[in-house]
Formats: sequence, C-alpha cells, structure tokens
Amino acid sequence: MNVLQNNEHRSICARCGGQCCRTRPGIEAPDRFLAQSDPAAALAELLIRREWVLETHYGVPYTPGVTAPDPGRIIQYPRPATVREQKTDDYDQSRADDCIYLTPTGCSLAFDSRPRMCRELVPDSCFECETPWGRREAALAWLHHQDIVQAATAALPPQEGFHP
Ligand code: SF4
Ligand code: SF4
Repeated sequence: MNVLQNNEHRSICARCGGQCCRTRPGIEAPDRFLAQSDPAAALAELLIRREWVLETHYGVPYTPGVTAPDPGRIIQYPRPATVREQKTDDYDQSRADDCIYLTPTGCSLAFDSRPRMCRELVPDSCFECETPWGRREAALAWLHHQDIVQAATAALPPQEGFHP
C-alpha cells in the first residue's frame, strides 16, 4: 500500500460533518491487495464480511499513448460498503449513504488503513475538497488487475451474491 502523509484536518471535517464519507466511500488502490500473499483471497474476505463491495466503472479513461478510450468496457474496483449496502444488500451506486466506518467523531480506521481515495482527498476550508487520485485514477489502476477481482468474485459463497 502506498504511504501518504497524513493530511487529516479534523476541525475542517468536523464543520463539514463528513460529507465525503456520507455520500460514497472512497475507492482503494490495488496495492493493499497486491501486498498480500493471495490478493484475491484478501479481497474476497472483505467482500464476504460485507465490509467492502465492488463498484463498477464504465469505460476505460483515455490516456494518450497509454490507454485508448473504451466506453464499452467495465472495470470493477473495491471500496468500503455503505450502511445500507451492508444491512440490506441493496446495491445502487446512484444512492448516497454513510460509509460503514464513519462514526460521530470521524473515520474509525487509522489513516494508513483507509482507502487511497480517502487518504488523498485534501480537506478544504471552503469545502471544495479535491483529490489527485479519483475515479479516473482508480479505474486506470485497476484496469490491469481485474483478474484479482474476478478471482475474488469466484471465491464468494453463492449466498453472498455478487454485485455486478
Ligand atoms: S475531506 Fe472535505 S468533504 Fe470530506 S469531511 Fe473533510 S471537509 Fe468534508
Ligand atoms: S473509509 Fe473512512 S475516510 Fe473513507 S469514506 Fe469511509 S469513513 Fe470516510
């Protein structure tokens, strides 16, 4: 997992009330799983515990000389589940809800254990928070690791279902 400097700003985020964590949890990079001896098993464990889900990204982001645009392709990447997703198995990407790790005093995960998108989001005093590692970067990072996602999905017990 990449090491990023802790950029938490609790006073700004307390004033905001954690809007980023109350809409859709941040996506994790492949590094967390690649660091494990069995990346697919590590991902499957989080999915089976219903702590994490797979989110779908439609299309391949165009990067000149690196990737061609491919709007028909689907890329899946993992992120923590929302409260609703964990309790009801209702997976609707368009619906905002609290991340399961959000508490009244902020994220319950240590900074280094948070998804990369969460760690890279820069709190802004005007609440115009931006991240240098967003969905585009997540899609490009996971593009060549879909084998991990597919193997994790295949390892899920039938009753766990799978969010396409
Ligand atoms: S990072 Fe930005 S959106 Fe997220 S809780 Fe802090 S101020 Fe709010
Ligand atoms: S993992 Fe933590 S920082 Fe990321 S969305 Fe959830 S509560 Fe917020």
